[in-house]
Amino acid sequence: MQRITQLQTWVAEDWTKRSGGMPQTEEALLYVLEELGEVAECLRIAKRAKPHSTCHANALSGELADVCISLVTLACVCNVDLANALADAKKKIEKRHATAG
Ligand SMILES: [Mg+2]
Repeated sequence: MQRITQLQTWVAEDWTKRSGGMPQTEEALLYVLEELGEVAECLRIAKRAKPHSTCHANALSGELADVCISLVTLACVCNVDLANALADAKKKIEKRHATAG
């Protein structure tokens, strides 16, 4: 989870350097949705391509990374500590699976 904290710090610093500050909450959410749309587009195009096409796999990787960065941005804007949030989510899932099994 340390890497998540480092990523969150880097994203906040990058926004500050590049744009003079973090976006507003609505704008950050729109970035997430925009990037999700690009993942959908990538998957739609990949459906028509040859199986295991490297070109499309690379494009999908890049778009998924963009989704992650946009989500980290939204977390920063909303003052969410993603490392803690992910640790809590992991515990919740583990507990759910432990009681289900
Ligand atoms: Mg993108």
